[in-house]
Amino acid sequence: MFRKEYIQEAYNRGKNQSQPKRRSDSFFDNEVQRYYFKLVEEYPSFLTPHSKPFDPLELARQTEEIVGKGNSRKYTDFYCTGVYGGISTGYTIGCCLRCVFCWVDFSRDFPLQTGQFFSAQHAFQNLNHNARKAGVKKMRISGGEPTLCPEHLVSVLELIRETPCLFILETNGILFGNDPDYVNRLKKYRNIHIRVSLKAGNPEGFERRTGGKGEFYELPFKAVEYLKKEGINFHVAAMTDPGLMPGEERKMMLTRLKSIGYNDYLEEERCDPYPSTAVRLEKAGYKLRK
Ligand code: SF4
Repeated sequence: MFRKEYIQEAYNRGKNQSQPKRRSDSFFDNEVQRYYFKLVEEYPSFLTPHSKPFDPLELARQTEEIVGKGNSRKYTDFYCTGVYGGISTGYTIGCCLRCVFCWVDFSRDFPLQTGQFFSAQHAFQNLNHNARKAGVKKMRISGGEPTLCPEHLVSVLELIRETPCLFILETNGILFGNDPDYVNRLKKYRNIHIRVSLKAGNPEGFERRTGGKGEFYELPFKAVEYLKKEGINFHVAAMTDPGLMPGEERKMMLTRLKSIGYNDYLEEERCDPYPSTAVRLEKAGYKLRK
């Protein structure tokens, strides 16, 4: 489904609400329909050559309003998969970037229309049940940015703490880089490993490939600094696929990492041709170089 279908869906959802009908010349008959329409229309989806760069912190806030409620967060699925040698996974919704190489499904772009709310307790029960059933000792929240809705994440971590499982937290580092106190809150969880995934080595690359304003490219590097300072178990990954990131920019990224004292393992990522990735690249006007 793309924008047109989602707008129709918004119209139908609004129509199904028990709102008093008012006479209106507008296509949308009532307040609820207009509310959904506004959200669908204004919420940034995949990038195109005409997309306006956005503030990722503001997008995080907007997204949290859609995908979070109290300590609940939207998910579409819970399952086990073979990565990391077997891991119980909750597929959540919502991100504060719009990477052109992103593999997650279109719930990222249209979170309003997708998923169901799960309390931290309920999400944990599903993660734990699937882990025990499959005999795996790792858990993660994937499919979106897990650091959105901090109360949900921290509540899930509190529950996982009582299990023998390792929680792998894969993050783009935007919220951590903006808030050292958030990083500090995670210090007490000894059973987590954080994977910070860098998307760019300079402001231009960040803006071009994530849609976020270039000035925010610093935040994931700040996240690395804060994690190091707090002594939290983590490593850095980077989307350095040569088809997307120029060699010069990769060098700048490596230099920057070194300058902030990161000399450990760097996991260099390649862009996998998932169907959603292919659509995003095409919509953004990219041709992946071989
Ligand atoms: S690749 Fe990660 S950070 Fe980028 S849009 Fe997808 S989920 Fe968000």
